Amino acid sequence: MKLHEYQSKDLLSRFGVAVPRGEVATNREEATKIAEELGGNVVVKAQVLMGGRGKAGGVKLFTNAAEAGEFAGNLIGKKLVSIQNPAGMIVEKVLVGETVDIAEEYYLSVLLDRAAQKLLVMLSKEGGMEIEQVAEERPEAIVRLNVDPAWGLCDFEVRDAVLAAGLPKAAQSQMAKMIKQLVKATIETDAEMIEINPVALTPDGKLIAADAKVSIDENALFRYPDFQSTQSDSAEDPIEAEAARRGIAYVRLGGEVGIMGNGAGLVMCSLDEVNAAGGKPANFLDVGGGAKAERVKSCLELILMDDNVKGLLINIFGGITRGEEVAKGILEGFSSLNIDLPVVARIEGTGAAEGLALLEGTKIVPAATMQEAAQKIVALTR
Ligand code: GDP
Ligand code: MN
Repeated sequence: MKLHEYQSKDLLSRFGVAVPRGEVATNREEATKIAEELGGNVVVKAQVLMGGRGKAGGVKLFTNAAEAGEFAGNLIGKKLVSIQNPAGMIVEKVLVGETVDIAEEYYLSVLLDRAAQKLLVMLSKEGGMEIEQVAEERPEAIVRLNVDPAWGLCDFEVRDAVLAAGLPKAAQSQMAKMIKQLVKATIETDAEMIEINPVALTPDGKLIAADAKVSIDENALFRYPDFQSTQSDSAEDPIEAEAARRGIAYVRLGGEVGIMGNGAGLVMCSLDEVNAAGGKPANFLDVGGGAKAERVKSCLELILMDDNVKGLLINIFGGITRGEEVAKGILEGFSSLNIDLPVVARIEGTGAAEGLALLEGTKIVPAATMQEAAQKIVALTR
């Protein structure tokens, strides 16, 4: 579960990381008031769970509270689109924080390195908005340090990493401290990732987290009642949030072919087939095992909440899930949801014949194989 920047900064400050003062606002008046309290020199930042907010126009500096408030008022309710998130996200809150004077921008993150069964600290002198580019073009500019969770960090390792990154003298011991704070925070909050980009070095030589992104392992949420209450609030996508409430595995992907299947593997395979046929999947959705008509309908409803969807591919391999139950759900969905899109269904296995019989004479196009289904729906959505 990703936390918003303001939540991430709160969390990090509990571990001693220096963060700028600031508060969240949900409207122009609140934003103006916070900006006034901070003296007018503020940065207004969209609180959406995606990277690249700066380039998307979601981060702006001000020297006057009224202008900051006006910008915040205009930003709230708008959709921000970035390279990292082409589908975009609506801004519901902004963070109004004191502006940090930035002399240099560094990159610091800690994440779970599953292959190494360790944590991985990444540090670079070249932080800021181009870190992806740095990683691609000059990976040597990013210093990597694995941390064994059983042993923790030794001082000399941290010092070596900081020196290898080539940070100026003024930043070195502060960065060493920040690395230890981040590792401690990662372990104690069951974080999957903590990223500070940029870590700002101010002209008077102080290190401060100008941005923060924390992602907590959802399976450990029961240990943190604090974060639990923010779970729905920090959902990345409104449809994904709704899916989570309904207990349905759904991931939005941005394409135009809506996909519903049973079993994660079958759904992944369907996504591949749609891609191979030249289409773009709109979503991953697993109706789950033994789905009844009601659940199928609920899944259709979710898929159709995405305006990009121009057609539907249904791929069911009956086992515990019965083909005729799925067919019933599809038909119920069709009549109650007013579905007016091309739909191709491939139903195999238990109850397939009964299911297909139910769909006969309707607008739903049958397909004998997964490939055929993918090709048909891609052709129909063109
Ligand atoms: P992101 O684009 O979503 O990662 O959002 P950031 O919070 O990192 O903001 C983007 C960029 O805006 C940063 O890389 C900084 O260059 C700049 N920025 C953000 N906060 C401040 C600030 O307090 N002072 C200054 N001078 N620049 C800032
Ligand atoms: Mn950033």
